Amino acid sequence: MKDQYGRQINYMRVSVTDRCNLRCIYCMPEEGIKQVSHQDILTYDEIVQIVNAAAAVGITRIKLTGGEPLVRKNLAGLVEALRAVPGIEEVTVTTNGILLKEQIGKLAKAGISAVNISVDSLDPDMYASIARKDALAAVLEGMEAAVSCPGLKVKINCVPLKGLNEEEWVRLAQIARERPIDVRFIEMMPMGLGRDFQGSSQKEVLERLRETFGPEQYLDGNFGNGPATYVHFNGFAGKIGFISALSHKFCSECNRIRMTAEGFLKPCLQYASGEDLREMIRNGASEEELIRAINRTIYYKPACHHFEVDDSAEFEHKKMFRIGG
Ligand code: SAM
Ligand code: SF4
Repeated sequence: MKDQYGRQINYMRVSVTDRCNLRCIYCMPEEGIKQVSHQDILTYDEIVQIVNAAAAVGITRIKLTGGEPLVRKNLAGLVEALRAVPGIEEVTVTTNGILLKEQIGKLAKAGISAVNISVDSLDPDMYASIARKDALAAVLEGMEAAVSCPGLKVKINCVPLKGLNEEEWVRLAQIARERPIDVRFIEMMPMGLGRDFQGSSQKEVLERLRETFGPEQYLDGNFGNGPATYVHFNGFAGKIGFISALSHKFCSECNRIRMTAEGFLKPCLQYASGEDLREMIRNGASEEELIRAINRTIYYKPACHHFEVDDSAEFEHKKMFRIGG
């Protein structure tokens, strides 16, 4: 369905857990988190019930996220159930990749069509200083396992951090030169712990990449679920993408809603507004009532984010791992 501004909403990010096996400096505090209790997190049956209602209002694509989605038991079982929901055409996963090697076979068999792997550095020490865990080798093994799955689209996501991983941008982009993997740079959003870090812009990353790879060509077309802009460098097998919420505000084309692991449906990352679908289902709401709540959330989706404004009572104050990134 369309929201009040005429945007077609067909994509839903579903967080399956707030737990994570990393502590990325811009996402989770080092000491860990006060975890949401298991009873407060939606069961897989509840997620499927909500996605059934979401599909009835036009959601066709689901992204599973977290926290780290692969730390939740039997994620492949959820994927299989979601793939069976009438109207759901695509289920994909965003992961830090640590557990991917052991799970990718099952996930692919269950029906995921793409996996996004977050890697902010290819240098083991720098990776460990950003993710606060010496885990790069496991991530790279997971990436190899994913690439060897026939028909699975693999993308790498990196958050460019000023003064931290600048030397890594070219190294990460080399992956796209050598293999049919898209490497995407996501501008740091001033959300949660991200407020304490300075990200680098699309322009800054592109300038660096040009020094090594020459001029880029902008690519037209829709290559995924959302707002990434893609460029091609001569001789590259994969594309380079940018998700630049700050420097290239893409809200007018936003096609998404998102649901936290606790079942709170949000129309916009930055705003606290939304509907508590968990409470509704646990109080016996019918499918019609769920559909009405999802309709309301979509219809009243805010026009755009206001990351340039320091703070407001309407803004989301949860950290990124709680919302689902
Ligand atoms: N654990 C999984 C992962 O790391 O891919 C999924 C959840 S994580 C919250 C999803 C994505 O959000 C990651 O690529 C992460 O780098 C990114 N992220 C976290 N905080 C961010 C922020 N403040 N601004 C931009 N991206 C952020
Ligand atoms: Fe975990 Fe992903 Fe957040 Fe890193 S970005 S702490 S991997 S949820």
